[in-house]
Amino acid sequence: MAARLVIFGRQGAGKGTQCEFLTRHYGAVHISTGDMLRAAAASGTDLGIRAKSYMDAGQLLPDDVMVGVVQERLDLPDVAELGFLLDGFPRTVPQAEALCALVEVDLAVNLDVAEDVVRDRMLARGRADDTPEIIGERLAAYAAQTVPTIAWFAQQDRLVTIDGVGEPSEVSNRLTAAIDARLGSR
Ligand code: ADP
Repeated sequence: MAARLVIFGRQGAGKGTQCEFLTRHYGAVHISTGDMLRAAAASGTDLGIRAKSYMDAGQLLPDDVMVGVVQERLDLPDVAELGFLLDGFPRTVPQAEALCALVEVDLAVNLDVAEDVVRDRMLARGRADDTPEIIGERLAAYAAQTVPTIAWFAQQDRLVTIDGVGEPSEVSNRLTAAIDARLGSR
């Protein structure tokens, strides 16, 4: 049966690498709201123009906008067939509530890397959008909004937390071991 997963991880936690691995491993559809919004911004759609100002400031878009974007994507037929790996959504408790009213989520996975560690990594990679101010904004939004969202999944007994520090392949092994243990052999 198709896996329906949500992944959490701070910016710089290696979530991109692990999402690539997990979508290949489980054959699920990778739904990255960050990628979708960047594509919309690049092609200059109304959503993209609106999204850009939030993204440039390291702030979250309004929940109703994001829920609409994700709902539209989840409605496409590949998702029903293959399952999904949601990456970047939900980031707030209202988004999580809206998601779980739309579809069943098997498990949320928290790829855990401490704030100090990701801050140092992001500063070291020196991308144009990684100024100390923007990094601080994004980490503050994560602490204020997304950490409570992770706790929400834990309350529903639908969370596993994985130590995200280590070689990428080692982290991948931890992820599949934890996911398979929870989902059983399907
Ligand atoms: P980051 O670059 O912080 O790792 P993403 O690539 O997932 O994060 O998303 C980039 C930006 O897009 C976020 O900083 C935010 O402005 C916006 N965004 C993406 N997903 C969401 C969401 N679920 N809710 C609100 N805003 C979002």
